[in-house]
Amino acid sequence: MSTSIQAIRGMNDILPEQADLWTFFESTVDDWLRGYGYRPIRMPIVEQTALFKRAIGEVTDIVEKEMYTFTDALNGESLTLRPEGTASCVRAVLQHNLLYNAPQRLYYNGPMFRHERPQKGRYRQFHQVGVESLGFAGPDMDAEHIAMTARLWRLLGLPDIELQINTLGTSEDRARHRARLVHYLEQHHDQLDEDSRRRLLTNPLRVLDSKNPAMQALIETAPKLLDDLDEVSLKHFEDLQAMLRDAGIEYRINPRLVRGLDYYNFTVFEWVTTKLGAQGTVCAGGRYDGLIEQIGGKPAPACGFAMGVERLLALLEEYAFLAPRIAADVYVVHQGEAADKFARAAAERLRDQGLHVILHCGGGSFKSQMKKADASGARYAVIVGDDEAAAGEVSLKSLRELEDQVRVALESVVSLVRRKIE
Ligand code: ATP
Ligand code: MG
Repeated sequence: MSTSIQAIRGMNDILPEQADLWTFFESTVDDWLRGYGYRPIRMPIVEQTALFKRAIGEVTDIVEKEMYTFTDALNGESLTLRPEGTASCVRAVLQHNLLYNAPQRLYYNGPMFRHERPQKGRYRQFHQVGVESLGFAGPDMDAEHIAMTARLWRLLGLPDIELQINTLGTSEDRARHRARLVHYLEQHHDQLDEDSRRRLLTNPLRVLDSKNPAMQALIETAPKLLDDLDEVSLKHFEDLQAMLRDAGIEYRINPRLVRGLDYYNFTVFEWVTTKLGAQGTVCAGGRYDGLIEQIGGKPAPACGFAMGVERLLALLEEYAFLAPRIAADVYVVHQGEAADKFARAAAERLRDQGLHVILHCGGGSFKSQMKKADASGARYAVIVGDDEAAAGEVSLKSLRELEDQVRVALESVVSLVRRKIE
């Protein structure tokens, strides 16, 4: 006998039990984003590998070791399952010339793929809600992104998520800083792990992004990029902080926050909770003014952020949040030849009138059908026997409240059920 086929490690099924929470989250997010004028965009899940190498940077965890890359057997092209959405979103915007005469506020929601070691809050297929504002240069847009996420936490009832901010300055700032950092790291060469020794030569700022606990003390005392900023960078950062203070948003400056992707400049931020163990960052983003040009577009400023959906849902569960159960309005039980026929037509009539209806399929006694009706979560059972069918009527029984069963004309079902729901 062959062994049964299982889902791929780190790639999860989302079962109906959990799906109500996902649906609640996604509809809250859609409302919230439209409330700020953001419009949805959907990109393909597979892109040319070159896009991610160019956008995210060759010397990053993602590109070095986390991408699902394969060769298209038909034409030999190197393709990659998207590890994040910003690169694809910018590619789509450029390809369709969306920035031609207007800046864009965009969002998307979907699966991303990274070959990481699966653990709580870290999966190989996970989901992000990504938000990108393209064509906006000022700190007012950075502030909008942070203020809107703060609002989402309020909408979801999530307290105690800490906002950490930092600035990565300009590429000139980073070049200046690089020299100081390299000097410091070389002095402590014996304490560097293998990855960091390599990065010291290729992309020293990435050493600060190391997740290796043994490296943290060294990282903590490294020179700070904040001390190498020019006036323009400092002003952007200070203006942003003034806007956050105006909005009453608390933040902590974390000079070690560098983010795992190369495309950022100026503002970077993360929202972090202590309730999820090591995988505490639920939302992360920042400004990436160089990316559009890097992908081949006319230079334009931009910024964005992405939320980890699994982590946010885990946090909702931590706070014992119960998603509203999405159940049918009525479950139709029926027995007898004339009743079956009448019930099928009745279910369609009720759906015409806007009710959500489960029609019992598969026969069985009234008693066993009623059990299924109850288990379905529906509010009402609509009961049809040959008797009812002959009269063009049904019996209506509440499955959730103590109410007498009533026999009514099919036409009255919708108003009786509605009166109860509204
Ligand atoms: P981390 O430091 O946790 O690896 P990251 O810096 O790689 O995160 P980003 O690329 O900024 O993450 O992605 C934005 C958000 O997406 C993260 O803050 C997190 O909430 C979520 N995320 C990233 N990788 C995963 C993953 N493998 N599984 C689940 N969620 C993830
Ligand atoms: Mg990562």
